[in-house]
Amino acid sequence: MRVGQIVLRGQILTLGDENIPPIHAPTSGIITKIVKKKFSFFPNRCFSIISIKSDGQDKWIDYSSKRDYKFFSLNEIIQLIYNSGVVGLGGSGFLSSKKIERSIKQVHTLLINAAESEPYITTDDCLMQNFSKEVIQGCKVIAWILKIKNILIAIGDDKDLAYISIKKEIQSLPNFKIRKIKNKYPSGSSKQLIKILFNKEIPLGKHSINLGIIIFNISTVFSIKRSILNREPLIERIITLSDRNLSYQKNILVRIGTPISHILSEFNIKKCDIIMGGPITGFLVDDLNFPILKTTSSILCLKSNLMKNILERPCIRCTACSSACPIRLLPEQLYFYSKSLNHEKSREYHISECIECGICEQVCPSNIPLLTYFKKEKMQLRKIIFQENMSKKSKKLFMLRQHRLYISGLINENIICTNSTVNTTLNNAIVKDEDSNVNILKKSKYIMKKELESAIHRAKLKRNIK
Ligand code: SF4
Ligand code: SF4
Repeated sequence: MRVGQIVLRGQILTLGDENIPPIHAPTSGIITKIVKKKFSFFPNRCFSIISIKSDGQDKWIDYSSKRDYKFFSLNEIIQLIYNSGVVGLGGSGFLSSKKIERSIKQVHTLLINAAESEPYITTDDCLMQNFSKEVIQGCKVIAWILKIKNILIAIGDDKDLAYISIKKEIQSLPNFKIRKIKNKYPSGSSKQLIKILFNKEIPLGKHSINLGIIIFNISTVFSIKRSILNREPLIERIITLSDRNLSYQKNILVRIGTPISHILSEFNIKKCDIIMGGPITGFLVDDLNFPILKTTSSILCLKSNLMKNILERPCIRCTACSSACPIRLLPEQLYFYSKSLNHEKSREYHISECIECGICEQVCPSNIPLLTYFKKEKMQLRKIIFQENMSKKSKKLFMLRQHRLYISGLINENIICTNSTVNTTLNNAIVKDEDSNVNILKKSKYIMKKELESAIHRAKLKRNIK
């Protein structure tokens, strides 16, 4: 992408990688600016902002292939979901294609999470009332990909109209079931939902897939339907716009990337603080040019300075947070470890299991923004784990290359011995991985021996130099 380039609606702006999906142009127009920017409410992240000046025509890119999805191979259909930029819209932002790929031959039940339980947010409710047919089509697509027979839709017991609308769609579909669950926060989190519906707990460090259940938020299902049946990438979503007194509450379909200031001016909302997300899990946005993200489900407008008067005080070890945590974690411990950047301890105390429900923060008498600490710490841990994996991967690749070169006679044992950081166990494992041929194993042991001899030789040389 470059400044001055003309783009069409749905055109890919940035290619993704294995963790980030491609991003598409939400409208047709011309690229006017590409900048990198940091926001104070996302201290560890740098965003690339691409500004598009709309031409007002909203011209779609041509998606020529209209082949029936049932003629696609499994890989093609997963690739299509990835290319459409679909991620978990319930807030996780996790790649849906990756989730489906991991679930192949692992799951027997598709659980649709429509139990939106955080106050003020009604996007899923609105989606079910207005697009129930498409939602069911999306479920069928996922069930077809993963060859799943049981589809269960979990919905809050306060969403009567949505319930009726979905019920009407599934009345002639025997493999579909719908269950109302008590609308009590955080019943909408995956872990809680599994507990409520199946009376099972996801073991520590595991995922619902390990129990044979794949969970999708209902908005994600809708986007998967659009990506497969309409060949539309994810460029818009429904968000709830409301204020604390609910004097206005609307669900609006917005293009991803729309600046918040634009939405506020459209609805003539002036001078307020903005919480992006729900009142419990959301975060205060102090720059109204910040755009709507794929994971944004709500915008809550508060009276100016309401949030700024809240002072954080020291922890008094009252343990109210631990008693309230639905996952039975120890938030006060996690707080101390996160604050002191003790990553090892926060890992040991299972911070990765935190569902970011924010209940601990709500009950904390010292107004400690526990959730913010946990989110930061989880991000740090993800980086550390990523770096660890990368270094393991590079080491393995290096060793494989050394072996290939050695086997093809391009290098001799001495070169391997002096360059390699080969470790006996790993080296043997790689040899087994590559080829189970006994001769190669023998060669590997020979290399080990030579490496040892070479190390002794180098040590002796050093001593002589001294
Ligand atoms: S946010 Fe707090 S209450 Fe919620 S799961 Fe995490 S530690 Fe527990
Ligand atoms: S609720 Fe707040 S003050 Fe009480 S132990 Fe937890 S973090 Fe500390």
